[in-house]
Amino acid sequence: MHQSQQELFNDDLLMRRLNTLGLSGVRIVESHENQSVMVSLTARRVLRVHRAFTYAPDSVLRSIVVFADPRTRSPRRRRAQRVILAFPVDAYVRPRPRRRPRRKRPSVPREDRPILQRLAKLHREMNERFFDGALSPIRFRVSGRMRRKLGELALDPTTDRPLEIAIGHVHIQRDGWREVEHTLLHEMIHQWQAESDLPVDHGAIFRRKAREVGVAPRAMRDIGRSRLQ
Ligand SMILES: [Zn+2]
Repeated sequence: MHQSQQELFNDDLLMRRLNTLGLSGVRIVESHENQSVMVSLTARRVLRVHRAFTYAPDSVLRSIVVFADPRTRSPRRRRAQRVILAFPVDAYVRPRPRRRPRRKRPSVPREDRPILQRLAKLHREMNERFFDGALSPIRFRVSGRMRRKLGELALDPTTDRPLEIAIGHVHIQRDGWREVEHTLLHEMIHQWQAESDLPVDHGAIFRRKAREVGVAPRAMRDIGRSRLQ
């Protein structure tokens, strides 16, 4: 376990105090913050002590010395144990906050997976064909909410970098893949704008690029909300 300089210093100080109180036969004292075992002695004669005992008075440390001595007989040992366990470790060392479990990404519905794969493949192909492979790979999402909108490119609000391309589920079902291909290409022009530090809109640059790649610029495939185009 990694220990900071301060912790090593504290361990050393604790060992010296314990030695003064009569500790013997212990190679080294190591502190820890494991709440379940306050004091233990390993086979290699390492005395492991909860870090809070760094702050304990001599009366408590004396019990540790008694407890750690292999010659100590049972009743005395138990008494020492009671003193050790009575020491309020939480008052001195706040338990470390438990790491919060990572929030799981919402999982992709199984039925969307072939669609997402197909979109990614189309993206790769059209990226080569129309953008000289300049576009970055991007995440896809099938949106069950988009009714009028066919597709949209989401931008990171702080960096303005493209985050993902969403394609409407209704669009795929109703209009078929020929149309979806056009929608995707439309969104890829927006992606190209964003990655070229151009404004993401349907202005002159968009229309020129759309003509170049053979997408009818008339298609207002997405009705952009603020950061979504
Ligand atoms: Zn658009």
